[in-house]
Amino acid sequence: MKIYADNAATTAMSKTAIDAMIPYMAGTFGNPSSLHSVGQEAAEALNDARTRIAACLGAKPREITFTSGGSEADNQAILTAVKIGARKNKKHIITTAIEHHAILHTCKKMEKQGCEVTYLPVDKDGLVTAEQVAAAIRPDTCLVTIMFANNEIGTIDTIAEIGAVCQQANVLFHTDAVQAAGHVAIDVNALNIDMLSLSAHKFHGPKGIGVLYARRGVPLATLIEGGAQERGKRAGTENIPAIMGMAAALEEACAQIDATAAKLTPLRDRLIAGLAEIPHSILNGHAEKRLPSNVNFCFEGIEGESLLLLLDDKGVAASSGSACTSGSLDPSHVLLAIGRIHDVAHGSLRLSLGEDITEEQVDYLIAATKDVVAYLRGMSPVWRDLTTGKREFIL
Ligand SMILES: *Cc1c(COP(=O)(O)O)cnc(C)c1O
Repeated sequence: MKIYADNAATTAMSKTAIDAMIPYMAGTFGNPSSLHSVGQEAAEALNDARTRIAACLGAKPREITFTSGGSEADNQAILTAVKIGARKNKKHIITTAIEHHAILHTCKKMEKQGCEVTYLPVDKDGLVTAEQVAAAIRPDTCLVTIMFANNEIGTIDTIAEIGAVCQQANVLFHTDAVQAAGHVAIDVNALNIDMLSLSAHKFHGPKGIGVLYARRGVPLATLIEGGAQERGKRAGTENIPAIMGMAAALEEACAQIDATAAKLTPLRDRLIAGLAEIPHSILNGHAEKRLPSNVNFCFEGIEGESLLLLLDDKGVAASSGSACTSGSLDPSHVLLAIGRIHDVAHGSLRLSLGEDITEEQVDYLIAATKDVVAYLRGMSPVWRDLTTGKREFIL
């Protein structure tokens, strides 16, 4: 059996997205900035995509800026808030300890440039509260940036409440919604969101394309200088095929959010229940306030990397932490932030399900994981020390 269970890292493109792109690769190739009809045909497509994407978020077309993906959108959102804040000498940013590195590394960079950053701690489930945000806001706060749904543990934050707190305090609120867009209903007005990042390849669109939503009246800082594309805020000839693929993929995903959640949630919970039968294991992330696709566990006494390789042999593509974290020896900052100690955090497994997952496949995932965990524990010196009482179990 072959199961791709790494949809939080990237998704396969949908037929809808591919079909929407082909005409703009094979036929309508114009540059939207050109005045002739070949270019104007591309410009019309661009407008159409912008309008449709805006509609999916409850936004206006003018509030949508195309970027190269989630990372660029996150960078641009932070630089925008810092630039606006600088006019009034506001240099304080509030974020959380469990953000994506596109946020955390940009915050670190801002610290080097004179900003102060508060990294809010999260609770054992990965949640941060609106009260924590309210208590952290200062007169010099220029930005609150808190992710919608976590890419590793799937926890979904109380975005509406956090947005309301920011609105009341008149502080810009950005959310990295890369894991949420197309998977959770989003209305930027109802949720009081001023800026939002999304990325097409996380909802069956193409890679290398994303959006930064910025509420009317929020003047974006420019990362890429050049032509007047995207109202001068993001230069470079627009990637029309990718933009068309993203619009089609987002519309399709948004139309199916409820149906997908209804299908995936019981399968996710079946998988969680099955993996919880493994002794000395623990679920990471909130049991209910989590993405319908996300399952993340720690298994004591093993290494996540070995687990991944053996699962791959069994046809299962999974992840340990995020794609950016694996490949480095540091355990995931997200797992550490929810209180897992180093040794335990190293034995983590993330299974992120696709919409086409079946009950039979879920049962295979459970059986394969049980097998591999038992096999690895059988040859793990750490496990031997744990079972002989030389070391104490944590989980
Ligand atoms: C994937 C991801 C990103 C980065 O998006 P890219 O389009 O790959 O740059 C940012 N934030 C989160 C939460 C993500 O999951």
